[in-house]
Amino acid sequence: MTRLFFFGRKSAIIVCMSQPTLDTPVQFVRGVGPQRAELLGKLGITTLVDLLWHLPRDILDLTHVADVRDLKNDELQTVRGRVVDVDGRQLSGGKTLSAVLIDCDGEYVRGIWFNRTWVNQRFRHGEMVLFSGKPGRRGGRWEMSHPRIQWLDADDTEAHGGVLPRYGLTEGLRMHEMRRLMRQAVDDYAGLVPELLPEALRTTAKLPTIPEALRSVHLPASAADYAAGRSRLILQDLLEFQLGLALRRRSWQSQGAAPRFPTTAKIDARIRRLFPFEFTKGQNRAVRDLARDLDSGQAMQRLLQADVGAGKTVVAVYGLLVAIAAGWQGAIMAPTEILARQHWQTIDRMLAQSRVERLLLTGQLTAAERRDALARISSGAVQLVIGTQALIQSDVVFGKLGLVVIDEQHKFGVMQRARFSAGDGSVPHLLVMTATPIPRSLCLTQFGDLDLTAIADLPPGRQSVVTSRVPPGPARVKAWEFIRKKLQSGRQAFVVCPRIAEQQPQQLTQGGSEPDGASAEAVFRQLAATELEGFRLGLLHGQLESDNKERAMDEFRSGRTQVLVATTIVEVGVDIPNATLMIVQRAESFGLSQLHQLRGRIGRGTFQGYCFLFSETIEPDAQQRLLTLEQHAGGFEVAEADFRLRGPGDVLGTRQHGDLPLQVADLVRDQAELETARELAFDLVRSGRLDQPEFAPLKIRVLERFGTLLDLAGSG
Ligand code: ADP
Ligand code: MG
Repeated sequence: MTRLFFFGRKSAIIVCMSQPTLDTPVQFVRGVGPQRAELLGKLGITTLVDLLWHLPRDILDLTHVADVRDLKNDELQTVRGRVVDVDGRQLSGGKTLSAVLIDCDGEYVRGIWFNRTWVNQRFRHGEMVLFSGKPGRRGGRWEMSHPRIQWLDADDTEAHGGVLPRYGLTEGLRMHEMRRLMRQAVDDYAGLVPELLPEALRTTAKLPTIPEALRSVHLPASAADYAAGRSRLILQDLLEFQLGLALRRRSWQSQGAAPRFPTTAKIDARIRRLFPFEFTKGQNRAVRDLARDLDSGQAMQRLLQADVGAGKTVVAVYGLLVAIAAGWQGAIMAPTEILARQHWQTIDRMLAQSRVERLLLTGQLTAAERRDALARISSGAVQLVIGTQALIQSDVVFGKLGLVVIDEQHKFGVMQRARFSAGDGSVPHLLVMTATPIPRSLCLTQFGDLDLTAIADLPPGRQSVVTSRVPPGPARVKAWEFIRKKLQSGRQAFVVCPRIAEQQPQQLTQGGSEPDGASAEAVFRQLAATELEGFRLGLLHGQLESDNKERAMDEFRSGRTQVLVATTIVEVGVDIPNATLMIVQRAESFGLSQLHQLRGRIGRGTFQGYCFLFSETIEPDAQQRLLTLEQHAGGFEVAEADFRLRGPGDVLGTRQHGDLPLQVADLVRDQAELETARELAFDLVRSGRLDQPEFAPLKIRVLERFGTLLDLAGSG
């Protein structure tokens, strides 16, 4: 490339065009030039290969547009027309009716929608649209109820018949230009893109080559052709990632043998005696999986997934005690100090009669305490360590670490797995736990290198939490009345707020200031003076000193405070069975999965739990989300809904953690391809076929793409 700068622009183009490669800057692709290259750059396209992989968002299938004169009653058909009238009106019973009339070459079709107020805002007079649905005659006219809508760009309207790709664009770049560019690029260069799968495999799986697939998506002959091409490219994307995961798993396993921890009947009985209850079916199954892994000689890498309150801690403790019984150390790591302390208190109580040496390691220890703790950890004197991320600092060296449990793993980085060393060159067993029931497709990606155990049941006697949306006004007054009654009868309540402090302090100076309900500090003050006057309130948020956090938590746990006003710091793991009430302020500002997590803090004992979602908006999307929560008690349904509504980032609770290194695949949309990719990838690695010469190009590609991210050094 350096040489290009010595030539004028013209000659540079000539040089490049004679020998283009996939890395050729897009500027030098025929028909692009510097101006368009800049626009393409905004779409993340800088090289020829980027251009070819800029797949259409979808297609416009005009092959089946019906002539209105030929429409048949109640059969699924598509019509095309220009918007000539948009109308909305209120019906009795609070319903709304929206109607959009389109002119299809002189014949009219009306689309109607109930309770879809957005329809009135979304349509503009003069726009060209497609309506797909089952028409019926009404008032001498064809009408479709809730038709599927596709908006046509100005450039689409010229086309008659055929299947057109539709691309994501940027200001200044028109659809027809993009299509022309792509046609050119595919005709000239798609053949340069290497095929990475051996022919035999492609033939059995009936897969087109990558160049063929690129042609099918950019220049589709039919909707089916497009779908087949798209599916192949998405499969490729997912396959490479799944191969990365499979290689990571293999590299972990081949690092060395893991110690064996047998679970004898005696050990099993001794551990079970520590708990005042019988294990649930799900816990028993999880414990069996664990016992088998721990005695296999190979490092366990297992994900334990269960809804909030299912009792994962019990399973973790069981595993840790099995390791300890075999003479090894166990460690459990929690994402917050509050949760680490809670584990400490629970486990410390459980082990009151036992001689297990245990220690809590958080960032709060003084230098001297920490030095002492580290010495006891490395000498092996301590058998069980409970802690926060403080556990994975480089100066923490275990003498003989046998099992690591990571609680609420989704709160840590997505791609990273904490690195622990057993101390004698072998690898410790690993159990990661997550409370958000993660939709399968996300699970296969995020935790795709782990074995899965799911607990499907809850401890007996649990009633699902009654959830209700509470708009401002009389419903609030009634809700507080109810809450006060429950508090008086001995129950406790969380009040959760999205923020710590007020955002605009100047608002307070305005006469009769109306707190917006979002700030924990303001809500705390306000409730103490009004709705909850006379009750004992506590305040907990992340900016308090550690000591104060601890005190607030302890006072609530012991019942000295009846109400804890808090931020989402209580979101994960907190277990206080007597707390049965939760009020979520500004519920609309939380993600669904997060709300489910919050709700999981209550209804953990035998008393009925009540969750009140206070929302200040009537915005339909927000109301829809809150309604989902009202209707579904199970975390799995909530997570699926959240996943569909807001994408993977929200389900995991932290947006940047949800960003997956995928090029074209979409986990919500492409679940079928994901299943295929998953199976193929793990089979290729397990069977050793990936190491054969015919797979070399694919393997090299995977290592180039994911070597650093997935820490695959040594997998080549
Ligand atoms: P999570 O899966 O959300 O981490 P926890 O481990 O905190 O759940 O357990 C939730 C509550 O259920 C705790 O109070 C625990 O003591 C209780 N629990 C766990 N297992 C059982 C069981 N088998 N029977 C009755 N109660 C149980
Ligand atoms: Mg937990």
